[in-house]
Amino acid sequence: MTAQIIDGKALSRQLREGFKTRVAALLEQGLTPGLAVILIGDNPASRVYVGNKVKACEECGVRSFHIALPDHTPQAELLATIARLNADPAVHGILIQLPLPPHIDGPSVLEAISVHKDVDGFHLYNVGGLVVGNTIFPPCTPYGVQLLLDTTGTEVAGKNVVVVGASNIVGKPMALMLLQREATVTICHARTRDLAQHTILADILIVAAGRPGLIVPQMVKHGAIVIDVGINRLPDGKIVGDVDFAGVREKASWITPVPGGVGPMTVTMLIENTLRSAERALRLRHADDYQEWEAPILKGA
Ligand code: NAP
Repeated sequence: MTAQIIDGKALSRQLREGFKTRVAALLEQGLTPGLAVILIGDNPASRVYVGNKVKACEECGVRSFHIALPDHTPQAELLATIARLNADPAVHGILIQLPLPPHIDGPSVLEAISVHKDVDGFHLYNVGGLVVGNTIFPPCTPYGVQLLLDTTGTEVAGKNVVVVGASNIVGKPMALMLLQREATVTICHARTRDLAQHTILADILIVAAGRPGLIVPQMVKHGAIVIDVGINRLPDGKIVGDVDFAGVREKASWITPVPGGVGPMTVTMLIENTLRSAERALRLRHADDYQEWEAPILKGA
């Protein structure tokens, strides 16, 4: 069996085309969607990520506010910046590029972002919402994986899903989102003994460990769907995932490539979350219905 490719670039392109129509509808009613991106310090990788986000916003007609702060910015100043953006009606989404410098307390800063503008989905409220299935903004990478999975036409309910990686931004939210969709979910991490004994049972295998070559064909069930979230730069400069793509492709039914799989979806889902926030702002101009925020978007998604 040679797996079919789950094409994240193509899905991303298709979704972004749809965004243009939604942005046009907002503009027609006098609202320009806006995303604020805060970057502290000059980490070269972070600068690239922020650049990609700003560029994707421009392509879709979303206004971006790029706030670059020096590495030594005091936490109080960062919190004041967030408070200003929380109150700014031109800003519908706020994200802080991670990692933060060591003198900044990450959790306090993430929790200072209004839950209604937390388009990265890292605020404790949104994280907690994943547990009970009514998150306002699902975190972008797992959200993108969920849409990629849906393109295969596979019913997730009842499937054995194994998530390799248990980080707060990918593995754990991914597992919770698929549990919400009634999969039987196993989470593996660096302390898991005999990883293969878990992965071999997976109907759907999602790998987010940041370890090139971690998943080899012997660890994969025939016909499994394999989603590779990993992004690793090899010494020769090549970008690879965590999965031995060529080998595993001969056993899986569907597989994501790296690059061109999950990567493009992450920024696309950031824009999706920003547009949802802007659309809500427009609705609230016409109604005092703040209850709308309680509407879950993950149930049955
Ligand atoms: P992370 O915070 O470093 O977490 C890695 C997770 O993998 C941890 O839970 C760790 O276990 C686990 N792990 C490490 N080695 C393992 C092993 N040998 N066997 C099983 N589990 C192992 O990384 P992350 O931020 O979640 O990112 C993971 C990967 O996804 C990275 O390559 C990153 O670049 C990529 N990524 C891609 C996107 C995208 O848009 N495509 C977005 C985010 C991240 P412990 O918890 O026990 O340490």
